[in-house]
Amino acid sequence: MKCRKCGRKAVINMRQHKLALCAQDFLTWFVKQTERTIHRDALFEQGSNVLVAVSGGKDSLALWHVLQQLGYPCNGLYIGLGIDDGSAYSDRSRACAQQFADQHGMNLKVVDVAASHGATIPEAAQVTRRGAGKPCSVCGLTRRYLMNRAALEGGYDVLVTGHNLDDEAATLMGNTMNWLVGYLESQAPLLPEKPGFVRKAKPFHRFYERETAAYALLRGIDYIQEECPYSADAKSIYYKKVLNQIETDRPGAKQAFYLSFLQARDQIQFTGSGERGPLPDARCSTCGQPTRGGRQCAFCSTWQNVRARNKPLEPGR
Ligand code: SF4
Ligand SMILES: [Zn+2]
Ligand SMILES: [Zn+2]
Repeated sequence: MKCRKCGRKAVINMRQHKLALCAQDFLTWFVKQTERTIHRDALFEQGSNVLVAVSGGKDSLALWHVLQQLGYPCNGLYIGLGIDDGSAYSDRSRACAQQFADQHGMNLKVVDVAASHGATIPEAAQVTRRGAGKPCSVCGLTRRYLMNRAALEGGYDVLVTGHNLDDEAATLMGNTMNWLVGYLESQAPLLPEKPGFVRKAKPFHRFYERETAAYALLRGIDYIQEECPYSADAKSIYYKKVLNQIETDRPGAKQAFYLSFLQARDQIQFTGSGERGPLPDARCSTCGQPTRGGRQCAFCSTWQNVRARNKPLEPGR
């Protein structure tokens, strides 16, 4: 197959765009498409101060690389979750993020959950009722909170994540299968800023996962290839598989499913129960963040609980 632009050998065929490209033209196309998405979806403006949530995986490192090429002032943020499971997953993903930052002269801020909050994510999951021993619930809550706080404290205009279209379509399928209206309301490539919450954006939300992988590979980015060990039984992996099966039969179906949802959501009357809804008046008594229920926000009450249960017994007790 030949490159549509120059006629040389194509390295990727994007059937949903009816577009095959060689390595050089794909890299140029990918950066331009990212810029187009940022403008078309009004994610942020030229000159915005950007904080990139970096996991050490292909999507977030590719995103950081592209934003730097586009001239945005951007730093990276890595959250150390303390996930080991015999594979030193967190240590290795952090090493990939740090190596990338060093190679490109970029600034990576690291927040280590165990050092700052007294327990790793798997330890926290063992002692809270959240997720009944499975770490994903406490992990998601903790990452969202710490990323938001780091962006606010650092004075950033926007926090960006490397979610691609496969991630978004799988989330959409999960939200739709279970009719999680609040989550459907919050599922958007842009969540505007509001008091206590930084603006959040997903500049890669129109790319298929194989496109972000191709960018990382062709750029020689060294990223952690395996997924988090706890993701193996995640429903999102199952939904991705199902969507890829549909995509094989009907090229473009995955893209149509997600992009049609974005169009349809503008016509849907949501009740404001999701993250995009009105802010609650109540403030967390510990951190001051707006919170929907109780005296403390979910993050503060969860971690207070973790610290209380994780406290070593005093001698003689
Ligand atoms: S799969 Fe994702 S949410 Fe679950 S523990 Fe791993 S990084 Fe956290
Ligand atoms: Zn070409
Ligand atoms: Zn709080």
